[in-house]
Amino acid sequence: MQSMYITTPIYYVTDSPHIGHAYTTVVGDAIVRFYRLAGTDARYLTGTDEHGLKVARAAEEQGVTPQRLVDEVSTRYREAWSLLDVSNDDFIRTTEPRHIAGAQAFLQTLYDNGDVYLDRYEGLYCVSCEDYYKEDDLLEGGLCPIHHRAVEQFSEDNYFFRLSKYGDALLAHIEANPDFVYPRTRRNEVVGFINQGLEDFSISRATLDWGIPIPWDDTQVTYVWVEALMNYATAVGYGQDDELFATWWPAVHLVGKDILRFHAVIWPAMLMAAGVDPPRQVAAHGWLLVGGEKMSKTTLNQIAPSELVDTFGVDGYRYHFLRDVTFGSDGNFSWEGMVDRYNADLANDLGNLANRVLNMVEQYREGTVPALSGNTESDQALRAAAANALTALGGFAGYRFGEALVDIWRLFGAANSYVEDNAPWRLAKNPEEADRLDEVLNALLEALRVGAILISPVMPGAAKRLWDQLGLAGAPDTAPYTETAVFGVFPAIPIARGNPLFPRIDED
Ligand SMILES: [Zn+2]
Repeated sequence: MQSMYITTPIYYVTDSPHIGHAYTTVVGDAIVRFYRLAGTDARYLTGTDEHGLKVARAAEEQGVTPQRLVDEVSTRYREAWSLLDVSNDDFIRTTEPRHIAGAQAFLQTLYDNGDVYLDRYEGLYCVSCEDYYKEDDLLEGGLCPIHHRAVEQFSEDNYFFRLSKYGDALLAHIEANPDFVYPRTRRNEVVGFINQGLEDFSISRATLDWGIPIPWDDTQVTYVWVEALMNYATAVGYGQDDELFATWWPAVHLVGKDILRFHAVIWPAMLMAAGVDPPRQVAAHGWLLVGGEKMSKTTLNQIAPSELVDTFGVDGYRYHFLRDVTFGSDGNFSWEGMVDRYNADLANDLGNLANRVLNMVEQYREGTVPALSGNTESDQALRAAAANALTALGGFAGYRFGEALVDIWRLFGAANSYVEDNAPWRLAKNPEEADRLDEVLNALLEALRVGAILISPVMPGAAKRLWDQLGLAGAPDTAPYTETAVFGVFPAIPIARGNPLFPRIDED
């Protein structure tokens, strides 16, 4: 199977990590864990975007050097991802020497290939966006449509990238690769944008020094957005380690819908100009809304992941966003929705099931159940639910997390029905039913074993705890799951009950 290289956007250090950043990062982690569980070599990259005027100004306001500011905020991101059990293989910072060297090599190649030229730039610039606007795009009073603040008139000599040259090549690439932009509605949006005609754009600034110098002209630094895009390549050795680069490129980029054009138009064109393959895919998710509004500093509705982890645990946190947000659409966060989901799916369906089964195994069989399997109608139904859940996990490759989890939860639903149908407490009273009781308890342990494997990309911590409670050696996330998660006979080993996996959360 081909290797998979998955990236999040690198997060800009004037912001602190909130549940919007965490959404992308946790989704990427679930995907990469899914691929590893399937036996595919997978690499996961995230990081921080640390240059630009906005960072320089924020540092000035705080009376610190830009380097000090970016060191501090970058650490906060790493701590947030560690808290959320994110298994990134690498964390790139755009102030690192490897990025600076790789980005300069990339720029030099664009220049040598004739796709970069010097010209006069005049335009209206929003400092917060770090982007130019056309008069028509501004709000009344000449305000930035995103930040509602006045734009500034800039005029300077800049280097320009010949984006206009790549419209046809981009359209041909999108045509030949129907999954290049996901989902389909976003693909149409990108095609429409290219069809309007692409304009060359400025890739450098003469008025700023917190950035990467243009290699052939040290009076200019690289426009922050342009060098930020290059992180995906520099992190896997672009310009420095050709073998590493060849191993992992091209990447799958997970992005928010607001930065789709940068990733699905500008970045692929830059790669083409540098003689490198475009990304394998650009997958755009929607926004996470709080009370119907996009999170922003100005509306003060940013929620830090740690605020939710305190109540729901890491696994409850991860489960909620993967189960309840449809990838590609906007999701609406609410505390009540999160409590309901946790109590219904985690505390009740899975948590109670595990608790009940482990209790019965202790009570009726002193912790060890013989390796016996039954073949009644209810046994067959449970096996079918397990097979269906195994197949459903494949939906992760197509961003269908919620649907896959619904099917995996049908296995736990089937196991709960199996308990009711077979009533082990009745079997336990009848010595003639001793073998049937073994069969029933064995099937329930096996359902939990299969379940632990299938939930591991979403809830790695809970999956491992359940695995340990079942008395199993090793870990649930051993590849390939298409073999390990096949419903069979649970081994005759002693269970090791622990604390409840998901204590109920009080609605109040
Ligand atoms: Zn703006």
